[in-house]
Amino acid sequence: MHGTYNFWLVAASLVVATLASFTALDISGRIAMLAHSRTRHIWLAGGAASMGIGIWSMHFIGVLAFELPIPLGYDFKITAGSLGIAVLVSFFALHVITSKRLTARRLVASSVLMGAGIAAMHYTGDAAMRMQPAIQYDPRLFAASIAIAVVASGAALWIAHTLSDAKQMNVLAKRLVSALVMGIAITGMHYTGNAAANFLPGSICGAANDVDANWLATTVVLFTLAILIITLVLSRFDARTALLAGSVSRLNGQIVRMATFDTLTDLPNRRTMNERIERAIINAKRSDSRFAILFMDLDGFKTINDSLGHTVGDEVLKAFARRLQECVRGGDTVARLGGDEFVVMLENLHAPTDAQTLAERILDAMKKGLLVSNHPLQVMPSIGIALYPQDGDSVESLLKHADVAMYEAKRGGRSTYRFFEASMNEAAVRTLQIQQALHEALNGGHFYLLFQPKFRGKSGELAGAEALIRLDHPDIGTLTPLEFIPIAERSGQIVPIGYWVVRETCRHLARWRAEGRPPVKVAINLSPRQMNEADLVANILEIVHEEGVPSVQIMFEITETVAMQDAPRTIEMIRAFQENGFEIAIDDFGTGYSSLAYLQRFRAKQLKIDRFFTNGLDENGQEGRAIVSAIIALAHSLDMDVVAEGVETGSQLDRLQDMMCDEMQGFLLAVPLSADAFGVMLERGEVSA
Ligand code: C2E
Ligand code: MG
Ligand code: MG
Repeated sequence: MHGTYNFWLVAASLVVATLASFTALDISGRIAMLAHSRTRHIWLAGGAASMGIGIWSMHFIGVLAFELPIPLGYDFKITAGSLGIAVLVSFFALHVITSKRLTARRLVASSVLMGAGIAAMHYTGDAAMRMQPAIQYDPRLFAASIAIAVVASGAALWIAHTLSDAKQMNVLAKRLVSALVMGIAITGMHYTGNAAANFLPGSICGAANDVDANWLATTVVLFTLAILIITLVLSRFDARTALLAGSVSRLNGQIVRMATFDTLTDLPNRRTMNERIERAIINAKRSDSRFAILFMDLDGFKTINDSLGHTVGDEVLKAFARRLQECVRGGDTVARLGGDEFVVMLENLHAPTDAQTLAERILDAMKKGLLVSNHPLQVMPSIGIALYPQDGDSVESLLKHADVAMYEAKRGGRSTYRFFEASMNEAAVRTLQIQQALHEALNGGHFYLLFQPKFRGKSGELAGAEALIRLDHPDIGTLTPLEFIPIAERSGQIVPIGYWVVRETCRHLARWRAEGRPPVKVAINLSPRQMNEADLVANILEIVHEEGVPSVQIMFEITETVAMQDAPRTIEMIRAFQENGFEIAIDDFGTGYSSLAYLQRFRAKQLKIDRFFTNGLDENGQEGRAIVSAIIALAHSLDMDVVAEGVETGSQLDRLQDMMCDEMQGFLLAVPLSADAFGVMLERGEVSA
C-alpha cells in the first residue's frame, strides 16, 4: 500500500522545523547569557517545551502530510508520549548547547543520544496509528533515518553551541541560515523514516476513530506556530530587559562608587570616611577600645598647583595617596576629604604612641621625595592627631580637633605632627577671628607699616630700613605678622597684601622725598606664595613706576628656606629683580639648609644673619661666636654684605663690630618705628644711602 504526500503540509513541516530550530538557537543564546540565575532554569524548561513542541509538530505534520487510501487517526496517549519524548530530547539538547565547553567526545555522545531520541519520537508517532498489521520497516532506510537523525543532531548541536555567544557579528543572519539547514536536516530525517515504513496491503488504522486528521493538522500547525512565535518574542523581550537591567545595574554601581570613592585617588571620600568613623565609634564603645584620626594636608600644595599646573598637582595627590596606603596596616582606613586633605583612621589603638609611630612613618616615607612628571619634588604633610574618646566622641569633633592639631603642626614649623590639646581650640578660634579680620583689612585700611632702621657696623650711620607690616583691627587689636602672615599665606590673601606693602612703602618713600628728606633704601619682605606669582616682578615694577620711586631705593628680602625650596627658580626670579634695579637680601640666614653652590649663584646683595645666632653671641660663648664669624667670612668671600638681625645688647654689638659685620638691626639700636618717626630720623641726616 502506497501513500501520497500533501504538498502544503510538507512545506508547513519544513517551515515549522526551521522555526523550531531558530527558536532553539535564539533561546540558547539567551540561556548562555544567564550564568547561574533562577531565570536560566526557567528559560531552559520553557525553551525545551517550545522547541520540543516544534520538533514534534514538525514530525506530526509530516505524518499528517502522508495520506493513505484508508481512514487514518492517532492514538491520543501514544501521540502525547511522542511529544513528551520530543520535549525531553529538547531539554537535553539545550542543556548541551549552552554548557560552557563542548568537547568532541561530549558532542558525539550527545548527538547519538539526541538522534536516538528524535528517532524514538518519530517511530512512537508512527505507532500512534496503531496499524494492523503493524508497519514493516525497510532495515536499510530505517538505519539511514537513525543515522541522519544522529548526524543532523550533531550538526545542530555544534552550530547552536558556536552561535550561543550572542555578542558575535551578524549573529541573527547566521542563526537564520543555520536554522534553515537544521530544519532541512530534521525534515530529511523524518521523510527518510517515512520512506522506511511499509504499510502492508489491507492494513487498517486502529486509531482511525480517535481524532480527525484534518482538524488535527490545522490545530497542530497553528498551535505550534503560536508557541514558537510567543517563545521567540518573549526571548527577545527578555534579552532586551536583561540588557537594560544590566546597564542600569552597571550605571548604578558606578554612581555608588562615585558617591563613596574619590575619583582621583580611588580612596574612600569624605562621606565614606564619616560613616567609617561613626562605625568605629560604635565598635570602640562596645569593645571599650580606642582609635586615632590623623588629619593631614600637604605643605605648599597650592604653590605646586599654581606653579607646575593642575596635572602635576593631581599626580602629587595620587602619589601621596599611594605612599599613605603603603604606610598603614590592612585594617586602617585612608581617605581623601577633598583638595589636599587626607585622613587616616587607626583602629584598635594599643597606645597613643601607635599614632605617633604612624605619623613618623608617613613623614619618613615622604622625605624620600616624589618624582612627578620628571619633576623631583619634596612634598611634606603636616599631621594633626585626635584620639577617641579623649579628644571627641563624635565624627565632627574628632575631625575638627584633628584639623586644629594639624594647623598647630603647620605653625610649629610644618612637616611635623601634633596631638590635639584643649588649648589648641582657643588658637583655632583665634585663627578664625584673624581670617575674618584679614578679609576686611585691605578695604578697611587696617594695615600699616613700621620701619625698623638698619645701621652701618663701623660708623653707626643709618643704612636703611626694613618695612614691617602690622594689622590693627578694631575688634581684635594690633597683630604682628607672625600671627597673621601664615594665615594670609594659606588663604592666598598674602598676594594682594604683598602688593599693598610695596605700594605703601613707595608712598612713604615719595612723601619723605617730597618733604626734602635724604633718599633711603627700604627692604620689603616677600613670602613664598608671592614668589610663585608668575608676573610678580612686572607687577611690582608697575607699582613702583606709578608711585614714581626709583627701584634702587627698594630691596627685597627672601628667607633662606624659601629661596632654597626651588633654587633654580629663585635664581631666575632674583635675576629678574636685579635686571630691574632692585636688590635682594637672603633673610633669616642659618635657619634653612643652604647649598653653598646655590648661595653663590643667588648673587644677593645682603645676607641677614638670623636673630638666633646674634643671640648666641652672648649665650653660646666661644662656639656661638665662631659660627657668626664663619658666616660673616663666608658672606664676604661670596661678595655679600652681612646684616645682623636682633641686636639687643651692647656686647653683641661690640662683637659684631669686631667681626666686621656690615650692618646691624635690632631693638638696641632702634625698634620698628612709625613712618613719621622714621621720617624724623631721616631728617636728622644720619642716613648714608
Ligand atoms: P624678619 O623679616 O626677620 O623681620 C625682623 C623681625 O624681627 C621683625 O619682627 C622685627 O620686629 C623683629 N626684631 C627686630 N629687632 C629685634 C630684636 O632686637 N629682638 C627681637 N626679639 N626681635 C627683633 P616682626 O615685625 O614681628 O616680623 C616678623 C616677620 O614677619 C618678619 O621677620 C618677616 O619675615 C615677616 N614680615 C614682616 N613684615 C612683612 C611683610 O610686609 N610681608 C611679608 N611677607 N612678611 C613680613
Ligand atoms: Mg626680613
Ligand atoms: Mg629676618
